[in-house]
Amino acid sequence: MSGTVATRVDERGVRSYDVPLPADLVAGLRETVASRGSHPAYVTATGQVTWNEVASEVDALARRLAGDGVSAGDRVAVLAGNGLSFTTAVFAAWRVGAIAVPLNFRLTAADLGSLIADSGSRLLLVGPGMGELAVAAVAGQVDGPVVAHADGDGRFLLGVPDGDVPDHTPGADAPAAIMYTSGTTGRPKGVVISHGNALQNSVTCTAVIGRRADDVELVMVPQFNITGLCSQTVPAMLLGMTAVLLDGFDAARALDAIGAHGVTSTVGAPTMWWRLLEQAELHDRSELKGLRLALFGGAPMPTALVERMRAAMPEASFGNGYGMTETCSMIMYVGGDDAVSKPHTVGRPLPLTELRLVSPDTGADAGPGEIGEIVVRGGQVAVGYWTSDGIVPLTDENGWIATGDAAEIEDGFVVLRDRLKDVIKRGGESVFSFEVENCLHQHSGILDAAVVGVPDEQYGERVVAYVVAKPGHDLTSDEVRAFCREHLAHFKVPSVVEVREELPRNPGGKVVKSLLRSDSDA
Ligand code: AMP
Repeated sequence: MSGTVATRVDERGVRSYDVPLPADLVAGLRETVASRGSHPAYVTATGQVTWNEVASEVDALARRLAGDGVSAGDRVAVLAGNGLSFTTAVFAAWRVGAIAVPLNFRLTAADLGSLIADSGSRLLLVGPGMGELAVAAVAGQVDGPVVAHADGDGRFLLGVPDGDVPDHTPGADAPAAIMYTSGTTGRPKGVVISHGNALQNSVTCTAVIGRRADDVELVMVPQFNITGLCSQTVPAMLLGMTAVLLDGFDAARALDAIGAHGVTSTVGAPTMWWRLLEQAELHDRSELKGLRLALFGGAPMPTALVERMRAAMPEASFGNGYGMTETCSMIMYVGGDDAVSKPHTVGRPLPLTELRLVSPDTGADAGPGEIGEIVVRGGQVAVGYWTSDGIVPLTDENGWIATGDAAEIEDGFVVLRDRLKDVIKRGGESVFSFEVENCLHQHSGILDAAVVGVPDEQYGERVVAYVVAKPGHDLTSDEVRAFCREHLAHFKVPSVVEVREELPRNPGGKVVKSLLRSDSDA
């Protein structure tokens, strides 16, 4: 997408890419099949399929979905690990104009049941190994979905007679998916992504990250997550790349896959990169050197980790993508030399994405050097939240969405300071948990760290750190606090440091700080 790019502006003033985008994701798959049908599309533990084969599986399942009565606007829930069952299910739902509801299989059956009920899904497609969880999730649901389990080859609804699939495709404005947020703060919300949102995000992935059709992408984050679906699965499909689908992240298996399939590009949460580097170092493995693009995002990236990645992959290009489910993945990016020289930033807004920093106190634009909430608009911002009253907007009337993240601009680059709700107010001073975490990550014995504020009679809140020691390292609270005193202003130094075996993280790699805070209260 270099050179001149056609853009359009809607009535709210939101700008997006226009031609030469496909009309929607279904048309996108058709175009890929026409241009790269015989190219390998997906590689999984059980084999490899071409784009022609993917399309014929998708068409066949779409006919069975139609035969089962699924039509435009119906919700089809999908409970499956990364793989062909998941991918075919989602693409086939799109083919009949239905809305895919990818589910997080790490949730409890009760939580899954609530999401399935919330989405009003009429069908639940259950991938290999998920049968028991699915049955428990819908147990006792009145008007619950029809549950269809994959057969031994991972195919769905094989006994169902074919129905008629409409010739027309859904169009850019049609909802494509309901993506439930991870619910690190309160109840998960169903974010409705349109075909157009996913196309806009994909174009950006291609243009700004510099992915190429001959790249081999490893999808090691869950496909049910916005990054796995909209920043990897969909862009790989639109470009006709090959994607290696890893079912369940495990550092050793990820390295195996990188080596075996010639992976050139991947995306991981910071914690995944720690584990990949540890594994490579511990077992003297060199697969990471094969990567051309090593991308990260989803959670704050410790500077120490960027330095370590650079040492391990001197030839690779790095990139940090910032965004949220509500923005269909990315809104900012920093890549190449800037990702290395400015590891503390999340970069600049993507092309056609507009950024404002807004003072949380006054609602006015923050002045130079001031911290404000990141507020953005662009064609990738989701069409709304799924509610019992229908789809309700998640932006103001001019298309702006408030992210809940506090940031400032430094030399034209956005520096995230903290989630607004996580900023610790200690005796009139603001302590940004990211800064303290970044300091803790510089400590040679610390593998993982999270910092929260907990109520304190004297100061209002006090700074509490949770750390995980690297294997073979003993950490004491006093020693870690002494380290922080060397690097941080005294009011930022944690008053308590607790050493843990691991930190509670969600599938997107984010620490669930609400759990740590409630532990501190106990
Ligand atoms: P979710 O909707 O669950 O993906 O969470 C979105 C939130 O994750 C954002 O509002 C940020 O707080 C955080 N986040 C996403 N990407 C990054 C990044 N590259 N660096 C730091 N935090 C990030």
